[in-house]
Amino acid sequence: MHLLLTLILLTLPTGLYAALSYPEPRLLTTDIYVVEAPYGGPIASDASIVVTDRDVIVIDAHYTPEAGAALVSAVARLTDKPLRYLIHTHYHKDHMGGNGAFGPDVTVVSHVNSYQLILDLPRRDGRLPDMGVDGKFFLHRNQNSLECYTYGGAHTATDVYIWQPERRVLWVGDTAFLRSLGYMADGYPDSWLEALDHLLEFPAEYIVSGHGPVMSYDDLKEYRDYFAWFLNAVKERIQRGESLAQIKHTLRLPPEYQGWVFSGFLWEGNIERFYKLLAK
Ligand SMILES: [Zn+2]
Repeated sequence: MHLLLTLILLTLPTGLYAALSYPEPRLLTTDIYVVEAPYGGPIASDASIVVTDRDVIVIDAHYTPEAGAALVSAVARLTDKPLRYLIHTHYHKDHMGGNGAFGPDVTVVSHVNSYQLILDLPRRDGRLPDMGVDGKFFLHRNQNSLECYTYGGAHTATDVYIWQPERRVLWVGDTAFLRSLGYMADGYPDSWLEALDHLLEFPAEYIVSGHGPVMSYDDLKEYRDYFAWFLNAVKERIQRGESLAQIKHTLRLPPEYQGWVFSGFLWEGNIERFYKLLAK
């Protein structure tokens, strides 16, 4: 029996040993698909596939080269149209580690700050962005045009927001989540709140976050309220003269946010970052 099993395994292509369990892209609205990744693991972040009248634009590339390759294969199963653009919502590796799976015909678009920040990372694999965005960047198509915007630092110094006006889909990267605290340790407190207010100006029906489920407009408002509460709570304590240790000891999540994702392990790092930038 063991010999038979060994023989079967030896005849399988090697890629199957580490087969990735890749979620089926979900049709969100006309010709726009979302891959909702499980938290953690090799896929790690959500990606989107936007099929236009002439080509395909992908938003975010997952964490590992294998996950990036699974995304490229998923595009090829959905459509014969050529994959032409990959847009990063920001430079964090869980969103761009799969870059290397995208061929030379794909232009990789990121915030203008991403290139140097990626070069400075201690470990880098895959490919660097081809184009830097600062301000606005529009991809005009007969169907599913995309508008890219930057508003200054929020989750990172490299956040790019993407808007599809006819389908009213907004991509917000890791600047907002569905009932999750978010990772703020690379973030910018005041301009993050300003970015959330900019994002609420879009009449969005679907809001695709960098992690977790797709959100509604009201979910984005809820995240904005949580963020404003957190920012003001840290600021008030700094103004009262509390030390970082005191704030960590006294600041607690109000009951309405206690069941949110990552309320355990991201909490202290978020306080540390905001204290560092605000206590001056
Ligand atoms: Zn991130």
